Parts: sequence; structure tokens; C-alpha cells
Amino acid sequence: MHELSVTENILEIANRHATQANAVRVTDIYIVIGRLSSIVDDSVQFYWDFVSQNTICQGAQLHFERIPARLLCLSCQNEYTLDSDLSACPQCSSAQVKVLSGEEFYLDSIGIEGKEAQSA
Ligand SMILES: [Zn+2]
Repeated sequence: MHELSVTENILEIANRHATQANAVRVTDIYIVIGRLSSIVDDSVQFYWDFVSQNTICQGAQLHFERIPARLLCLSCQNEYTLDSDLSACPQCSSAQVKVLSGEEFYLDSIGIEGKEAQSA
């Protein structure tokens, strides 16, 4: 599954930030997912519970923010925002579109408990 490797990646980054910030515990993980990303929140949560065991991130609450996608129509050069599934150009109905953004998946920030609390 794709989600396992991305979840491990998120954990690694969160652990590194938490260690740098002298955190005692990580309480919250804020993840940004592009609208067109194939990553499923529930799967990430499932793997998270598994991979975060016995780490500083164990028990942290995951927060997902879905951000809209940006597309460019290659027929009429119309640039548009998409907040649902992939669809044709709203201006000329062309399906010749290029995805500018919307497939991202990254750790935005973390919430920690420690001597000096700070976000990532
Ligand atoms: Zn168009």
C-alpha cells in the first residue's frame, strides 16, 4: 500500500522536528492533502497507529486538510480551481487539462508538549 510509506515519511519528519524542539510528546499532526491525491485519510490513520507505537508521536491526533486542485486547460489556457473530482474545463469542456497542483501530501505542522512549545 502506498499509504504505508507516506505515513512512515510523515512520522520520520515529525520525530525529527519534535526532537529538535525538545518535545516530551507530540500531540497533533497537521497533514495537507491535495484534492486529487489518491491517499485515503482512513488508511493513513490506520498505519499511523501502527508505525507511531513506541515513538514520541504515539497517540498524536491526526488532522487532515484537503486543499483544492489547480488545473490548466490546454485547449483554451483557462486556469481553474477544482474542489471535487477531476472534471473537464468549465469554459470549453475540453478534457485536455494539465494538473498544476492538487496531488500533494505533506506534513504542515505539529503540536508538541515540551519545555519550549513550537510548531514545525
Ligand atoms: Zn478550456
